[in-house]
Formats: sequence, structure tokens, C-alpha cells
Amino acid sequence: MKHFSYVVENMSVLRAFVDRDGIVTHYREASSVLVQVYSASKDDHWYLDISACLADLMPNAVIIGASTVGEISKGQTLTGQTVVSFSFFQTSYIKPIMSVCAQNGEEQAALEFLDQIPKSDQDIKGLLFLATPLSMDMKRFFDRLDAAKFDFPLFGGGAGDYALMDRSMVFCGTDALESGAVAVIFYGEDLEIDVQHYLGWRSLSKQMTITKVTGQVVETIDHRPAFDVYQRYLDIQDDENFFLNVLEFPFLINRQGLDVARVPVTVTPDKGLQFVADIHEGEQCHIAYGDPSLILSNAKEIHQATHDFSPEAIFLYTCGCRRFLMQEDTNMETMPFQNSAQTVGFYTYGEFLSHKGELQTLNSAMLSISMREGGKKASKQVKTAKVNVLENEMDPYAHQHSRIVSRLVHFVDRVTSELEEANRDIEKLSLTDQLTGIPNRRKLDEALLESQALAERYGVNLSVMMLDIDYFKDVNDQFGHLVGDRVLQEFARVIKTHIRDVDILGRWGGEEFMLLLPNTTLEQAATLAEKLRHEIATYTFDGVGQKTSSFGVTAYKKGDDSESLINRVDRGLYDAKNAGRNCVKTLV
Ligand code: GH3
Ligand code: MG
Ligand code: MG
Repeated sequence: MKHFSYVVENMSVLRAFVDRDGIVTHYREASSVLVQVYSASKDDHWYLDISACLADLMPNAVIIGASTVGEISKGQTLTGQTVVSFSFFQTSYIKPIMSVCAQNGEEQAALEFLDQIPKSDQDIKGLLFLATPLSMDMKRFFDRLDAAKFDFPLFGGGAGDYALMDRSMVFCGTDALESGAVAVIFYGEDLEIDVQHYLGWRSLSKQMTITKVTGQVVETIDHRPAFDVYQRYLDIQDDENFFLNVLEFPFLINRQGLDVARVPVTVTPDKGLQFVADIHEGEQCHIAYGDPSLILSNAKEIHQATHDFSPEAIFLYTCGCRRFLMQEDTNMETMPFQNSAQTVGFYTYGEFLSHKGELQTLNSAMLSISMREGGKKASKQVKTAKVNVLENEMDPYAHQHSRIVSRLVHFVDRVTSELEEANRDIEKLSLTDQLTGIPNRRKLDEALLESQALAERYGVNLSVMMLDIDYFKDVNDQFGHLVGDRVLQEFARVIKTHIRDVDILGRWGGEEFMLLLPNTTLEQAATLAEKLRHEIATYTFDGVGQKTSSFGVTAYKKGDDSESLINRVDRGLYDAKNAGRNCVKTLV
């Protein structure tokens, strides 16, 4: 195949291009011709003029396009331009698809779209897909398409919009749609398509949970209004600049091994966050930040993989926010592709990709699509050398902006993980008894509530035991407090050696301990108590000698709550003390 891309300022420029470079000859010899138009303009007339001009010059060409928030021609990132690319296939075939989406008509539009995918024997090699995510719910559209279980790759982008969330458009032939999808199906035994994608965003915050979602509005995160997150951590306000400010700080969610970014577009009156792509209740997320050095190192790998594929044409569908983040450095991402083949594309509002058989709308991502007809072309030595030269020029540390951002991202990353670690330590400390190192009363309360709930819900057995050292006061009186402390430590250690890992031994207070025994009947618990009583009574405490202890035992029964369990096991212990100590009393 042959592939050319041009920046078109007016019709005479377009006509001049088509007349030169042997384009007319390529057109005549081609099995099919794809023209992609990516334009900053949302003026229908401008697009219709272009398509009319092309229809005149190349009546058999398939023309599709989209409005943009940045254009790419010959690997170069442009602003406010119209880029037209021509792909001349030698043996492959293409077919356009178009589907208009009425308001709330995503499912109908998807069905009409599916109807246009031929059920022929011919193998579909891929599907280039453009749509208007500002005016339609892509999740609903994709859910319908998903049912068709494509076994070919789908790739493309959401039409962009320089006026920020105003309106976007897609084009097909002589139609311009404000709401809908256009696509091109690729067929051909010789056609090879390679789809690559990467993000380069790094998580910045602690992990959070999406706790409430209504449609595409995230109402709460960690049970607080979702907007709080941006206000609290990034000092972003709910004003007309909200979208511009959050663009570089999307949420990052991992889905089936794929890092998916989500950029909120507005704040709702209830301080929820409105998204244009799906996000689900219960998903774990982080606030992420584009790390220029990570972006460039990811880009390098993809440049190499693309180069190794030996493409004849490269299409890039890359998120508008990458431009905001990378500024003038954005060419370091896009330019090296041009060393492998003519590269055309646009900056999107969402990137579309089939991943593990499911259609996804990505945000913030870069998609690169490489195509060639036939096997790999020989001799790429010269080009490889070129890529290497460019890579050396791409040193991110030569760029002040990237360098400072990288350091700050690293700093925040480190501070966050240190704080998370400190929080885990504090949490552990607050639930642990200092003297014995076993769970304290607070932890026992929590564990008892949980175990009781499990017993209630699933009917599993649960027994509870209360242990108290007999005449412990004498130890203090006779040997002093420090020795008393040591006896408590030894007591806990001895008990622990005779219980299972799932059993929870905690210090209830003073010289009183509680033992929670999941999956244990009252009889089994009584047997264990008797064994423990014997172990303690025959143990020699260092410097003190022998001590005995008393035991109350009970088991969960229907209707119990943690309070009734504690009352009963306490009474058991009281009975044991009254019965002369060094014994076990069981209460049903
Ligand atoms: P009983 O057989 O009735 O349980 O008699 P007892 O002496 O063991 O019980 P009592 O409740 O009269 O006394 C408990 C003593 O445990 C009193 C208190 O000073 C001591 N104690 C509580 N906590 C600690 C501790 O952390 N270290 C030490 N050394 N002593 C403690
Ligand atoms: Mg005691
Ligand atoms: Mg006591």
C-alpha cells in the first residue's frame, strides 16, 4: 500500500496535491482508496467542500473523518489545521459504515451499525471507528456491539472539539454527523494490521473506591462527594476551568490488566463528577498524572515495535490531554513514528479499542495503528539508525518542564507510599496490646462482631472462651509488677502455641483473655479449654512457679449478638471462679 498525508488550507491546495506525486496513477492502480480527513473546523461546509472535491477527483475513494483537538500529519503535531491522508491499497478492500445516533438511540444506532457489517466468508482484518462521544453514550453503544463478539481489532478515536465540550462531528462520504459513528472495515489476505497502545500515566494518590455511581456520574468516592478529591488534593475549583484543570489528572482504573484512565468533564450540583465514559461502582481508582519521562520511555518501546512491524502506513489516535501535558514536547511522541512510515492522525476525545474481546473507551491514551500489505519489507537498516538518532534527541531531562514534573511526581509518589505505610503501622498499633503483642480489646470487639455476623449469616459454628489467671494479684504483691508483666506475656505465648492460626486470642483487660474460635462447636471448645487449663496449670512461669487459670466457654446460638455472647461467657468464667478456680465452666 501507499500512504500520503497533507495539510490542506484550501481547495486549490488539495487539487494541487492530488495532481502531483503520481497520486492519480496510484488511484487508478489501487484496489481501494481510503481518505481520512481530520479537521479543526466544525463547519459542515468546509468538510462538504473537501468531500465534494475528492468525490470529483477520486469517485471511488472511501472518505471518513472527524473534528479534532489537534491534528497529526507526517508525524508532526499541528493546531487548527485540516489534514487529509490518502491510503492506496494494492490488494485489500475497504467498506464504509455509518450510523446516526438519535437522542437516547445508542442501542438502535449500534444495531444499524452491526447490520452494515457483512456476514461474508471474507476475513475482516480490522475496523477503524470514529464517533461523537460528546453527544452519545459510548458504553451503551459498545455494549450492543460487544454482543457481536468481534474477532478482529477495533480501533479509532472520539471526535474532538477545540471549543471544549461544545460539539464534535464525524464525517462519512458527503455526510457530516453531530451524533453517530462512522467506520471503515478492512479486508484482504495480504493486509496486516498491528495495534499498539500505551498510557504513560502514573498513579499519584492513595487507592480509593468508587462508592456510588448513577449513569455516568460518580456521586461518591470513599463515601464522600466525588469532587472533594480534586478540591482536597489538587485545589481544583468547580469553575469554568474545571475540565482544563483536571485533564492532566484523570482517575486510573485497572480493568483486566488494562490501565484505563477516566477524565471527568463537569461537576454536578451535588458535587458528583460527570464522565463521558463508563466507570463502575466498586472499582478501585487512583488520581493519576502523566509522567513525561514515563510517556517517552513507553513511546520508545512502541516506536521500536512499530518499526519492527515494517508498516506502510501509520495512524495515530491520541488523547487531547497529552498535548496539554507535553506541550511542545508532544512531537517527541509523534515524530519518531514518521521514521517507519507516513504517519497521520488526530487528537481525540477518547480512544476506542477492543481489548480481550471487549470494546473500551480509553481516555488519555495513545493508539498507534500500523498497516502493511504483504510480508515485511527488507532492509530497514537506514531507518533504524534514524530512529536511534531521534531517540537520543528525545532525552526528557533536556527539557526543564518534564524534568521538574518528573521530580515532583516522584516526590509525591514517595510521600504517599510512606504515609500509607505509616497509616498501616498506626492501624496495627491501635489494635494491638502493647505488653503481649496480641490483639487488644478494640480488635477483639471488631473480630467478635465480624465472627458473630458470619455465624448469623452462614450458620457456621462459633465458640467464645474467656480465660482469667487465678490469684494474679499475688504475683504482683509477691514479685513486683515487672514479674507480673512477664507472667502475662508468658501466659499469652503458652496459649498461642496450642491454638490454630484462625483462632483469635486477645487481651480483654488486666489478666483476662478472650479466645474466638471460628468453626468450633461448644463441645470442641470445652475440650480445648480443658487442654489449655491443664497446659497452664503444669507450666512453670519463670521465677514464679505454677499458676492456674479459670475458663468460661460458650457458643453462638440463633439470636445472639456480641453482647449476649460476652455476657454468657463472662457468667461461665464467674461460675468457674465460684467453683474454686482452675476449672472450665460451659454455658449454653
Ligand atoms: P482472681 O482469681 O479472682 O481472678 O484473682 P486475681 O487476683 O487474679 O484478680 P483481681 O481482679 O483481684 O486482680 C487482678 C490484678 O491484675 C490486679 C492488677 O493490679 C493486676 N494487673 C492488671 N493488669 C496488669 C498488668 O498489665 N501488669 C501487671 N503486672 N498486673 C496487672
Ligand atoms: Mg484473676
Ligand atoms: Mg480478673
